[in-house]
Amino acid sequence: MTTQLHPDGPVLIVGSGLAGWSAAREFRKLDTTTPVTLITSGNGDFYPKPALSNALAQGKSAEQLVTTPAEKMAATLGVSLMPQTEVSGIDLPTQQIMTSKGSLAYRQLVLATGAHPIRLSFAGDAANEIVSVNSLDDYVVFRNRLPAQARVLIMGAGLIGCEFANDLATSGNTVQVVDPNKLPLALLLPPQASAELQASLSELGVQWHLGTSVAELNRIDGELSVELANGTTVAIDVVLSAIGLRADIALAKAAGIATDRGIIVDATLQTSAPHVYALGDNTQYASDSLGSGSGNTSRTLPYVMPIMNAARALAQTLNGTETEVRFPVMPVTIKTPALPLVVSAAAPGTAGTWQTLEPGIWHFVDADARVLGFVLRGAQTSRRAEQAKLVAL
Ligand SMILES: Cc1cc2nc3c(=O)[nH]c(=O)nc-3n(C[C@H](O)[C@H](O)[C@H](O)COP(=O)(O)OP(=O)(O)OC[C@H]3O[C@@H](n4cnc5c(N)ncnc54)[C@H](O)[C@@H]3O)c2cc1C
Repeated sequence: MTTQLHPDGPVLIVGSGLAGWSAAREFRKLDTTTPVTLITSGNGDFYPKPALSNALAQGKSAEQLVTTPAEKMAATLGVSLMPQTEVSGIDLPTQQIMTSKGSLAYRQLVLATGAHPIRLSFAGDAANEIVSVNSLDDYVVFRNRLPAQARVLIMGAGLIGCEFANDLATSGNTVQVVDPNKLPLALLLPPQASAELQASLSELGVQWHLGTSVAELNRIDGELSVELANGTTVAIDVVLSAIGLRADIALAKAAGIATDRGIIVDATLQTSAPHVYALGDNTQYASDSLGSGSGNTSRTLPYVMPIMNAARALAQTLNGTETEVRFPVMPVTIKTPALPLVVSAAAPGTAGTWQTLEPGIWHFVDADARVLGFVLRGAQTSRRAEQAKLVAL
C-alpha cells in the first residue's frame, strides 16, 4: 500500500452520472465530515438515464427528466460540486488530478466517467448527422432534431435500439431499424423471444432491415438519404445510432492505470493504482465479484443495479473498512411495452443452450445443466425474483 500523501484531503469523485452521485450518497451515509468534491464535465443535474428511451411515450421533455438539480444534490449531500469542469489528467505519485480549473489533491479518487457511444465512420456528406443518446444533453439534441411525425432510422436492434423503436413508434413516428443480425436483440434473447419482439414491434409499425447495415448517408435535395449495404435506399429525418457503448478509460489509461474493455478493478473496486477506485459504465469488474456463473472473466456491466451495489461496497472501503462487492443476480427490464421482457444474461461468449422451461420462460443452461441466465416474457416477467434464485452464482 502506497503512503497516503493527503490523509486529511478530500475524496474526489469524477463524474455526475448515477455512479458518481451514488458513490457520494453512499459515502455520506457513513461519513458526514470528510470533504467530498464531485467534478464533472456536465452540469451535474441528476436524472434517471433509463428514462431517455421511454420519455416520449410518457410525455416528458428533456427538462422534465431532471429529478434533482445539481445544486440541490450537492447541498443535500454536503458535497462541493465543480460543474463544467473537465478532468484532464491524474498524477499518481503526487495524488493529484489536473482539471480545466486547476489541480486538486485527493485522499481517495473515484473514477465514475461512464461510457461513450461507439461511433463508426460512414461514407457520404451527411455521415456527421448521426445522433446517439447517452446523456440528457444528447437527448436534447435528438429531440430538437425530431420533427412532428418524424421518420427515424435506428441503427442497432439491441436493447437501447429496441426501446427507442417502441417509444418512437408509439409516439406517432415512423421507425425503421437496421441491424446486421437476423433478429432483434439476437445476442441477448433466444430466437423465439427475438421473433416475438420483432412481431410485437412490427404491429406498432416498426419496419426492419435485418442482416444488413448502413453504408452511406447523404443529403439529397435537403432530405437525409441512407443507403444500406443491401442496396436499399431510405429517405429519413433523423438517424439514431444505438450500436453500443465503449467504456471511458482515457483518463485512467493516460495515467498508467490498468485498463482493458474498462478500467480494471479488484473486488474492492480499487484500480491498479493505490487510493484510486472506479465504478459504473467505465469499469471492468473483477470475476470474483461476478460469481462462478461469470465464466471467470471480468467484464463491464453497463446497468443501474451493478452501480447501486458497487456504490454501497465502495463507500465502506472509502470509509476505512475494505469491502468486496459481490453482485447478486441482476435481471434487467427491457422497456419495450409492446412485449414486456426481463433478461438475466450470462457473460458474453459463455457456452450454453437455450431451453424453454414453460411458455414465456427460457433458461440459458451450460453443459452441467447449470442455469446461467434467463429470459421472461409478458406476464411471466412478474416471476423475476423466483427465477433469479435459480441462477448459478
Ligand atoms: C437510453 C438508455 C437507457 C438505459 N436503460 C437502462 C435500463 O432500463 N436499465 C438499466 O439497468 N440500465 C439502463 N441504461 C444504462 C444505465 O443508464 C447506465 O449504466 C448508467 O446510467 C451509467 O452511469 P455512469 O454514472 O456510470 O455513467 P454516465 O451517466 O455516463 O456518467 C459519466 C459522468 O462522467 C463525466 N465525465 C466523463 N469524463 C469526464 C472527465 N474527463 N472530466 C469530468 N467529468 C467527466 C460525465 O460528464 C458524466 O457526468 C440505459 C442507458 C441508456 C443510454
